[in-house]
Amino acid sequence: MDPNQLFAHALPLPRPWTVTSSTLEGKPKKLTLMVDLVEGTKSLPCSWCGKQSRIHDRRERRWRHLNF
Ligand SMILES: [Zn+2]
Repeated sequence: MDPNQLFAHALPLPRPWTVTSSTLEGKPKKLTLMVDLVEGTKSLPCSWCGKQSRIHDRRERRWRHLNF
């Protein structure tokens, strides 16, 4: 299985979210995952009511997940 798909299942990330890259480097080892929307995604469900809303901007953000 592709490592990016493996991490997407482990998180777990619902579509249209997907892992686009994974790198393991440094001392101590740090795992960095890039998460993005599947190409062509035009809308996402509201996290409160579930209503579909068009995507109008995108920003790169970082957060720390629990250790794998
Ligand atoms: Zn809503």
